[in-house]
Amino acid sequence: VSVAEPTLAELLEEWLARPTVSDDGLADTLLGRLEAAVGPLLARLEAGRLVPLTLDKERLEAMIGCERRGGAVLGRTFPVREVDPVARGLLLDIVVRRWVTTLGAELPRGEALLEEARQLVVADRGGGPADEVLARLDGLAGDEFAAWADDLEARAARLLADWPRPEEDRWWRTEERAVIGLAGGAVILSGRFDVVVGGAASGRPTVILEVKSGRIWPEYGAAQEFYALLATVRDRIPPAAVVTVAAGPLGVERIVAEVDVDLLERAAGRVVAALGGLERVLEGRPEERPSERCPTCPVRSSCHLVAEGRV
Ligand code: SF4
Repeated sequence: VSVAEPTLAELLEEWLARPTVSDDGLADTLLGRLEAAVGPLLARLEAGRLVPLTLDKERLEAMIGCERRGGAVLGRTFPVREVDPVARGLLLDIVVRRWVTTLGAELPRGEALLEEARQLVVADRGGGPADEVLARLDGLAGDEFAAWADDLEARAARLLADWPRPEEDRWWRTEERAVIGLAGGAVILSGRFDVVVGGAASGRPTVILEVKSGRIWPEYGAAQEFYALLATVRDRIPPAAVVTVAAGPLGVERIVAEVDVDLLERAAGRVVAALGGLERVLEGRPEERPSERCPTCPVRSSCHLVAEGRV
């Protein structure tokens, strides 16, 4: 017997109908734990002129994965190595943003959709990967442009197939920043939610939706939990759920994190662990932890494990 998965529309309907509940002091407890972990670091951060230090999901995961690599990516940017997946992800984000901000208006088709998305990348251009993505898109000629357009249209259609149409009373919004300052703003925990439904003054629970254009990676679960932590500390009410939806080349995958105390404590524990790693980085003794990321690690040349032939 196969049981059909609920659609995203059905899940949202259930979560948004729940009563909103007070966090009962949970946000303060979590915040206290994070503040306590930053305290011992402050003097070193200031001495290293690293204040304010922003930690987003990528930096936290890098630090937890391998402290040497994590330390290197703090305050530095490295060229995007694989532009195509980044470009496809950015284009899909833009299409979803358009869809939400027009309250589900029909999308342009094919090359018109890709051209509109490209123009929005231009409008959003602010350095970083957008420049590399634009260079890639500008280099697409003839058949390749048409193939990218078909791919974008197909991924967007697959992704949005089971979404409800956004309605104004549900408070749909996109690209919402959540920023938590620790130690008076010396360390900033930062996230940008792709899509948020409910919350704020809507009187409904918050649901956060993350959009991806490839397969589901294991670190997406940790990112969901980090976003739940940010939303809880910011709003003083835990979100009902964080959902990651990935429109890969062949199908849509979804991971759902319904938020509870265990999840939030796990997320806080991960931030505390990353701050411990940062302390070792600042003391000049980062742990090197081999993983499947070693082949593309930007600091391989200074890695002892590589020098010893162990990676
Ligand atoms: S190559 Fe070395 S520094 Fe880079 S991720 Fe692997 S273990 Fe860490």
